[in-house]
Amino acid sequence: MQGKIDPKILGAGNRDPALRPAINGAAINGTEAYSTMTPVRVQFLGSGDAFGSGGRFQTCILVTAPDTRLIMDCGASSLIAMRQFGVEPNSIDTVLITHLHGDHFGGLPFFILDAHFMSRRTKPLTVAGPPGTIDRLAQAMEVLYPGSSQIKLRFSLEISELEPETSAHFGGMSVIPYTVKHSCGCPPYALRVTCGGKTVTYSGDTEWTDNLIPASDGADLMIVECTQFDKPVSFHLDYLTLQAHKDQLHAARIVLTHMGPDMLARVEDLDWEAAHDGKVIEL
Ligand SMILES: [Zn+2]
Ligand SMILES: [Zn+2]
Repeated sequence: MQGKIDPKILGAGNRDPALRPAINGAAINGTEAYSTMTPVRVQFLGSGDAFGSGGRFQTCILVTAPDTRLIMDCGASSLIAMRQFGVEPNSIDTVLITHLHGDHFGGLPFFILDAHFMSRRTKPLTVAGPPGTIDRLAQAMEVLYPGSSQIKLRFSLEISELEPETSAHFGGMSVIPYTVKHSCGCPPYALRVTCGGKTVTYSGDTEWTDNLIPASDGADLMIVECTQFDKPVSFHLDYLTLQAHKDQLHAARIVLTHMGPDMLARVEDLDWEAAHDGKVIEL
């Protein structure tokens, strides 16, 4: 697969499991050293909802550890956010995807095509997401740039489809996906990521589910979506519901993200810490 998108791997309509990359892990060579970093640094490159509320970028959370760098989710606006915050796309080793909605994975076609045409990436890139990621990514690329899923890339692209509640290991990090409640045409995940000796859990998009309890248990940081304030909607969390479950979330630090207009109007008055674009957390 070195140096190209292998149409057997990223091909629209290819459903032959034998031709898919191995699930649960792919070793990555060529990761850069991030010598100036604290042990683990988290930065919100996008803390917004799907609809640009508050002028915020769509979801993208950068995690940098001494021996690896990853993003959790890559929304349609995420490549713009990387440029805004001075993050070199080629420095990303792994892209983890919680679920296949456009504000969480819609930036991947741009990221991949930038890597090939503009950033001239040479080191491997791993994309790991829920079952369905291979086909949906190929479809997204074909809709946006016809023929683009068949381009022979100049770098190795590994796409892994993560099994629920099963640990997967990539260069310098591990991830455990927990199934959550969200409607997106694929199994939606919360992701519990460990790298550099620290654990960061991100809820993805979900209404309340008890799976958030083990996903966050003992984490150094939990990032949880909070789309609404006091008007519950299906498949998303609201502030009052989170308050009701606060004692069940045993993470050292909890930060709210993916806030809609009602939440943003109250963001200065919350009892919980809230994200904003560019916010940095050092663990
Ligand atoms: Zn979303
Ligand atoms: Zn969603």
